Amino acid sequence: MVDGPRVGVHYPRSVGELQAWFPTDADCLDYLEWLRWPAGFVCPRCDHVGGWRLADHRFECAGCGARTSTTAGTIFDRTRTPLTVWFTAAWMFASDKGGISALSLQRELEIGSYQTAWTMLHRLRSVLVRPGRERLTGTVEVDETFIGGAEPGLRGGRARGKKVLTCIAVEIREPKGLGRCRMGPLADASATSLQAFVTDHVEPGATVITDAWQGYRGLDKLGYVHDRRSQRAAKSRGEDPGELLPAVHRVASLIKRWLLGTHHGSVDTAHLPAYMNEFVFRFNRRRSRSRGLVFYRLLQLAVDHDPVRYHDLIITKRPERTSPPPPESRGNPPSLDRPPANRPWRTPDQPRSG
Ligand SMILES: [Zn+2]
Repeated sequence: MVDGPRVGVHYPRSVGELQAWFPTDADCLDYLEWLRWPAGFVCPRCDHVGGWRLADHRFECAGCGARTSTTAGTIFDRTRTPLTVWFTAAWMFASDKGGISALSLQRELEIGSYQTAWTMLHRLRSVLVRPGRERLTGTVEVDETFIGGAEPGLRGGRARGKKVLTCIAVEIREPKGLGRCRMGPLADASATSLQAFVTDHVEPGATVITDAWQGYRGLDKLGYVHDRRSQRAAKSRGEDPGELLPAVHRVASLIKRWLLGTHHGSVDTAHLPAYMNEFVFRFNRRRSRSRGLVFYRLLQLAVDHDPVRYHDLIITKRPERTSPPPPESRGNPPSLDRPPANRPWRTPDQPRSG
């Protein structure tokens, strides 16, 4: 057994290796199959292990006879975009420190429509929340802030109306530095909303640092060590009351800058939680030595995930139109097929390299 995925064997180390490994859509499909069923086909309907591969690349379960494709039930289900294009998009999404906007993706990969590029990025974003993922531990700062809504041309009340009250939690590392973060929208700043956020995202036993807002009262009864910091006390000690919670404020300014930079502030309120998830995913992997590992993790989550279709994404709102409006036709990009690869992820017991 391998102890964790290895660079150069289980995930590519560079964009050059990405292109060498995945020259055809069939190579991409094989990689997804290996990620989804590393020990061989398992029927998603009856959990039977083992089956036959059909001529159309689907599997037939040896137990119940159901036929399943590798991408069925994943975000790649019934996609009309070739997998080579998906892999390049996933690489760009995972490897760029700031992520990528739909407009840039459309231009870079010559995707026919803005709508297709926008939907691809939202499908990738949709896999970034794992149910039951580990909560933050140790010493954690928690505070609320308003995020989004800084759209050019909107002033005063309207602009404010588009901002979303967001709770942010950040681990503090000793002697200094930040650990992981979590964030999410809040209905309001009531004790009910704030306590629900803290219990969802912070492990009991942790020390939770907040300001003196009454909504945070009672955290000690929920199993946390509550460190309340009052602005008045800070002032009387001669400290800057604006720097009571420096870690949360640092993360808040990073996501605001990212939304304004990469996405030009054109993120609508309905989809803001998905952008928050993307920010958190990338922030928590900011020290990852290999961007390829982030790509691997992204695709691993993607094959585990229920399909997301364009219509699911636009129930509440159409894609933002501050960028050029999506053309009416849905252009399907050409495949990026190249000569075949040797599929290193299928080669057992390679010597450790890199
Ligand atoms: Zn079955």
